[in-house]
Amino acid sequence: MTEEQLSADVLVVGGGLAGCATAYFLAREGVDVLLIEQHDLNTLASGANAGGIHGQIPHEMFREEGEAWSRFFAPTLPLMLASADLWAGFESELDADLEFSRCGGLLVAETDAQMREIERKARIDREYGVAAELLGRDALRTFAPYLSDHLVGAVYCPNEAKANPLLATPALANEAGRHGARIMRQTRLEALERHTNGFAATTTAGTIRAGKVVNCAGAMAGRVAAMVGIDLPIEGFPIQVNVTEPAAPLVPLLLYSGGERLTLKQTPRGAFLIGGGWPARLDPASGLPAVDHHSVVENLRFAIAAVPQIENVQLVRTWAAMVNGNKDWRPVLGTTGRTPDFYLCMFPWMGFTGGPVAARIVADMVLGRAPQFDIDPFVLSR
Ligand SMILES: Cc1cc2nc3c(=O)[nH]c(=O)nc-3n(C[C@H](O)[C@H](O)[C@H](O)COP(=O)(O)OP(=O)(O)OC[C@H]3O[C@@H](n4cnc5c(N)ncnc54)[C@H](O)[C@@H]3O)c2cc1C
Repeated sequence: MTEEQLSADVLVVGGGLAGCATAYFLAREGVDVLLIEQHDLNTLASGANAGGIHGQIPHEMFREEGEAWSRFFAPTLPLMLASADLWAGFESELDADLEFSRCGGLLVAETDAQMREIERKARIDREYGVAAELLGRDALRTFAPYLSDHLVGAVYCPNEAKANPLLATPALANEAGRHGARIMRQTRLEALERHTNGFAATTTAGTIRAGKVVNCAGAMAGRVAAMVGIDLPIEGFPIQVNVTEPAAPLVPLLLYSGGERLTLKQTPRGAFLIGGGWPARLDPASGLPAVDHHSVVENLRFAIAAVPQIENVQLVRTWAAMVNGNKDWRPVLGTTGRTPDFYLCMFPWMGFTGGPVAARIVADMVLGRAPQFDIDPFVLSR
């Protein structure tokens, strides 16, 4: 690309799910969009996550932070549900197999005390539009006979889903490209300067002039925001996921534990993905996320306690990656007063779920349209 071509109406920084979805939504509307990615597309969280498309208040946060936090977080639920609907349309829109399945999610309780907690959370979830059905011990036995007999009940959320993280972002990037978006890989944004008519972005591939900039830099979004003087409290946290060898179909849904951190799902090829946000560590030499063995053992222990039949399935691999996290768990979307044409597009912790809706909302704002949601709860200055 020549120096002359290095300009765009909209520059998207970051080639994960949020960035590629933003580029797709904008390019589809005929916007001149250029996406830059410092590595290759989908190399960080968006390509390394567990593929769960969640649609309820995260139970571990409800347990740790209680009802007040849950109600603070709750405006995020309609976004998550809308994002699941966007996901449901992607396979036909993008003409791609994303291994999407609206499989539903089951949060199981091991004790009566856990069941009471799950019921309390379900009441709040329902107030914000989440379909959540209580199952007692006998109903659970019939609904999910593969689960351990010691479980006392569960809540089933039929709108939850799963998809393959290795397929989704590339498919969005392809379709963005088909609509004219330009994508520059191995291009890192190093500095950003605001001028009267937009921005000058200093990158490893030269200077790019852009009228608007969308920050989709995931765990590094804080660094990009700081380039224009915005303090965005977002950090990277190392967490890990386990994958087993393929086994016969057993668990058709997303499984969570009401006791310990656990998410478990089975891919269409039969492998179990077992996670739940267990901490990984940072390798002191490289500074990169590395597998924590204690987390592996504990995570698998709780998986086997819930689904005893997986005890004989071999673990194939555990990987670690950085998740983009913030303290209050709410997405950060849109502009700030200081920099009107600089947009934040950040769905923390569960950005595989929320990336599409975050991108949709921010794309609407870039296009000058009113977003379909009240974004007051999600502006940086909330
Ligand atoms: C192990 C793990 C499991 C997870 N499981 C789930 C799950 O089951 N469900 C769920 O909803 N969420 C899950 N998540 C969270 C989810 O993966 C992330 O929230 C989501 O992928 C964030 O997407 P993103 O596009 O915002 O960020 P990323 O995917 O991190 O993309 C940001 C991109 O920006 C690029 N970038 C950064 N700075 C610059 C720069 N200066 N110049 C150019 N490019 C730059 C990066 O290289 C990166 O490619 C999980 C995360 C992890 C790590």
